[in-house]
Amino acid sequence: MKHFDKKAVKILLDAHWKSGWLDKTAVGASDDDILYAKSKGYWFDPIRTDHDDLVLKLARARREITPKEVGDAFLASLSSRRLELRSALGSFAFARQFPDHKMSPSEIRTVPSGAVQCQVCGHYGFNEPQAEDLNVLNFERHKWGGVRHDDVIYAWFDLSQFRREPQISPTKADVEIFQTILGIAANLPDDASPSVLARELREAVKSNLDERRVLIEILSMAGVLKPRNRPSYDREFVNPSQRQHTGQHNNDWGYPAIWWRGSDGVNASALAVFFPDIEFAEKQG
Ligand SMILES: [Zn+2]
Ligand SMILES: [Zn+2]
Repeated sequence: MKHFDKKAVKILLDAHWKSGWLDKTAVGASDDDILYAKSKGYWFDPIRTDHDDLVLKLARARREITPKEVGDAFLASLSSRRLELRSALGSFAFARQFPDHKMSPSEIRTVPSGAVQCQVCGHYGFNEPQAEDLNVLNFERHKWGGVRHDDVIYAWFDLSQFRREPQISPTKADVEIFQTILGIAANLPDDASPSVLARELREAVKSNLDERRVLIEILSMAGVLKPRNRPSYDREFVNPSQRQHTGQHNNDWGYPAIWWRGSDGVNASALAVFFPDIEFAEKQG
């Protein structure tokens, strides 16, 4: 069993970030540090994989995890600020109805590297297996609780790490923080955007703005903060053409959080799936 290791986390974070993303050429750590982080399970050699292999890996990882386990880990992240525990709820929500499929290249969505987007799941892949860097994914997991839960490679990596790590039980303090978050989300003005919610949560949970944004995106993927009349991962797999953007250039919220408004409030049925022990009354006061 892997154990939480503060020093290894610091090596991972420092290898990628110094008051901003490190330049590609500056990413890395000393040989000793890499050996240490590897020995603790926080640093990885690149793996060779492709889209179809990742689809199988994700299906296997998902089978070993229950909704309540990722819900409990999310709760336990709130007072501990262990962001990697928070991440699994987003990845699990994405994986839940993930379809078994082969790479289905889209003709229009290619990027300069030559990668082509799969029309079914949105992953950018190549014709042949590629070396994939897992350390950047692990960095994102520990730094923010993940930033691409809707990519098969991240979701698989996140859930497979989650399974290797010891579970922490949520405390009374975690439950209270979560109830406060839900209370705020349920009682904002009807037109309040996710950015307003991110601001209003600043006293509720020890966090910076980036962390609160990810927290909201994870709850939205789980269907707890669910925009009405939009395809939602709690009902069906949402393919990339359905993950629509508002078209506002300065709006970089992910789907579906980008569409959530105060009038959508909190969705009790998704709460019951991931947080069966949480009591929540919709409107307060
Ligand atoms: Zn152990
Ligand atoms: Zn795909």
